Amino acid sequence: MIAVKPKRKMAKKKPKDPDKVTSTLRYRVKDASELPRLDKLARSVNYVWNYCNETSFNAVRNHGKWLSEFDLQALTTGAGKELGISSVTVQAICKEYVTRRLQFKKRKLRWRASSGSKKSLGWIPFKANAIQINGDRITYLGHPYKIWLSRPINGKVLSGSFSQDAQGRWYVNLACEVARLDHRHQVEEVGIDLGLKTSAVLSDGTLIENRSEFRKLEEKLGKAQRAKKKKQAKKIHAKIKNKRRDFLHQETTKIAKKYHTVFVGDVSGKFVQSGNGKSSTDASIGVIRDLLKYKAIRHSGYCYEVNENSSTVTCSVCHNKTGPSGLSGLGVREWSCSECHAHHDDRDVNAAKNILRFGRESLRAAKAA
Ligand SMILES: [Zn+2]
Repeated sequence: MIAVKPKRKMAKKKPKDPDKVTSTLRYRVKDASELPRLDKLARSVNYVWNYCNETSFNAVRNHGKWLSEFDLQALTTGAGKELGISSVTVQAICKEYVTRRLQFKKRKLRWRASSGSKKSLGWIPFKANAIQINGDRITYLGHPYKIWLSRPINGKVLSGSFSQDAQGRWYVNLACEVARLDHRHQVEEVGIDLGLKTSAVLSDGTLIENRSEFRKLEEKLGKAQRAKKKKQAKKIHAKIKNKRRDFLHQETTKIAKKYHTVFVGDVSGKFVQSGNGKSSTDASIGVIRDLLKYKAIRHSGYCYEVNENSSTVTCSVCHNKTGPSGLSGLGVREWSCSECHAHHDDRDVNAAKNILRFGRESLRAAKAA
């Protein structure tokens, strides 16, 4: 039997309030004695997830039917009470399961293991109405969890989760709707080329670099991995991740504060083409773009994605395609235009200038339409 492809339910989109933006705040759970309690909840979550996975897979295999979020919710009614998790959490698991299944276009997703070497990192999703917040306490199912209130919880909480990192530490993540800040920008517009060697290059020549300390840590990580020191490697890995996140947050905030309109290249395909897919994630390209978008809104600015095809090979002065191209051109940093003789000291700055121009042109075209 040919399975019917899952149709994405056309959710009735609520008109977005242009003055509001969603941001996820993350807080560490303070008390180590809470950990067994959270671990237990996470096991229940895994149980529901695996049930959804099996049931959904069987329905496809045996009946060619793709179960929807609502089908799964109907099938799991009452499971929360039985398993000691909130019914809202069970609903959130069903929702997430269906979202992921659509995203990965798979009939079956990964099993969530509660123990053993392939143990899944703990995760307990919830909707806003499942928790109460009181200062530095978050109450879930009648039990208060103390958190390190590293920054105030502001805005309306929409949803959230408890989640665990590779070292077993628990966090609370809260997706909050926050208001735009009233903000004056110093500079009107900027184009940004996201790349590998440096994380980002701006059209005004600013370089945002993957700091060398990452490289030092990465060397350390390599050493630990080669020596098969798993625990140490995990620790370094987490450290790199946190440092990188902090760094990207700081840098994108600076950009959003300084520039009113940000044009950023839509790089997703670029490095895959050059057989370099892994590195593009190393440079955290997707993360930077998402941060830029959200922070622009937060600071009353705009961020647009611009088709960056040919931004590298086009001369930003005369607009002729005279730049280094192809795989052999990847190593060329500096070049002169054979048409207008402009000298480009940095290939990526030239690309960023083109992205700025492409962005301006497409905005103008959109306004004219
Ligand atoms: Zn030129």
